[in-house]
Amino acid sequence: MFISTNNKKIKFSFKDAVTKGMPADNGLFMPEEIKPLGEKFWQQLNQMNFAEIALAIISNLIDDEIPRDELKKIVEETFNFDAPLVELSEDTFVLELFHGPTFAFKDFGARFMASALNYFNETSKKKITVLAATSGDTGSAVAHSFLGSKYVDVVLLYPSGKVSKIQEQQLTTLGQNITALEIEGTFDDCQKLVKTAFVDDELNKTMSLSSANSINIARLIPQSLYYVYAYSKFNRAEIIFSVPSGNLGNLTGGLIAKKLGLPVKIFIAANNRNNVFEQFVNTGEYLPRASIKTISNAMDVGDPSNIKRILHLYESNHQKIKDDICAYSFGDDEILEAIRNVAKSYNYIFDPHTACGFLALQKYLSVNKTANAIKIILSTAHPAKFLDVFDEKLKEKIETPVQLKETLRLEKTSIKMSSDYFDFKNYLLSKKLS
Ligand SMILES: *Cc1c(COP(=O)(O)O)cnc(C)c1O
Repeated sequence: MFISTNNKKIKFSFKDAVTKGMPADNGLFMPEEIKPLGEKFWQQLNQMNFAEIALAIISNLIDDEIPRDELKKIVEETFNFDAPLVELSEDTFVLELFHGPTFAFKDFGARFMASALNYFNETSKKKITVLAATSGDTGSAVAHSFLGSKYVDVVLLYPSGKVSKIQEQQLTTLGQNITALEIEGTFDDCQKLVKTAFVDDELNKTMSLSSANSINIARLIPQSLYYVYAYSKFNRAEIIFSVPSGNLGNLTGGLIAKKLGLPVKIFIAANNRNNVFEQFVNTGEYLPRASIKTISNAMDVGDPSNIKRILHLYESNHQKIKDDICAYSFGDDEILEAIRNVAKSYNYIFDPHTACGFLALQKYLSVNKTANAIKIILSTAHPAKFLDVFDEKLKEKIETPVQLKETLRLEKTSIKMSSDYFDFKNYLLSKKLS
């Protein structure tokens, strides 16, 4: 069962937690209990593939609420892409999580959330409209996941002129049940439109709205899988993960994996200049603030939602958090320099988010003994998604995947709209009639 981080007494089914998205008390959904995986699981781990690991972990976390044979089908369809470990230097590996359809690690979470919502909707045969405000990566991962779904319409809202060229193409070229609204405003305006729609009684009477935001528990659960999967490739007692962090979903996935029994020596959280979490780890004080724009834009978060889940997992014990997590932060210049240095020394090109994870690992290693540990940097996006930040020399070295190149050739279709709520509402109501 699931509970809210604000109230452990009321229990929710997985279905409730996924379809509601967020509990009414303003907390976040978490599994009521995270039971460690049994001895047998860990013994057999090195013979298991990704889908088998996914099946074991997810059925444990959702108490078999989806029958095993159904869940097996879901995980095989959802995680149908690879997560290769690339060796950078001795005992140091890059876990490439960007081989899904939109070339960022958000595919893991978004695809599973879509599969879970589709599964629960198919039994109720109710048509729902998913609203998603996006600053870039999330929207396309969500849209891709629902593409062609019979019971789901997706309406994406993105700020006109404020996403990268390739991100805009990914948002506006899908067609079918996906509509992209190009809002004349900022990401915050887009988010406000969505939030207003959710509390609009008139609208909610005529259509069934669902949110696909990053706080949905179905987006979080899959983010624990690849930690265990990476570990399965080594026969080693100690492992260190460096995690490029913004809203802290990826890191929270790792902490859940640890609760499941994964022997992690330390998690390293890598922040860019938006370092609210680094400061929290170091001082115990959580002081959210407005985000600032950096070249690792998916980590530009000033008030990370998943801090609530981390506090919940550690019963707000700051010392225990510090025992498990270190945090560091870096500026754009350091990140760019790291990208250039790694390209030169290892002939490997990081995107700006992953480069931040690399720097954090280096910083940790400069002051800690780690003789026997395997070090893994989670790579969160393909560098070709962020071409604008690279100089010409590096750009030439980056091979843009065929699918991304094709996306660039497709014709963009978007509906331009003001950030006025009544325009948005009228659009949704007219869509309902058509
Ligand atoms: C979302 C994102 C992150 C940050 O992950 P969180 O779970 O929000 O901490 C890092 N890198 C990329 C490329 C992302 O899209």
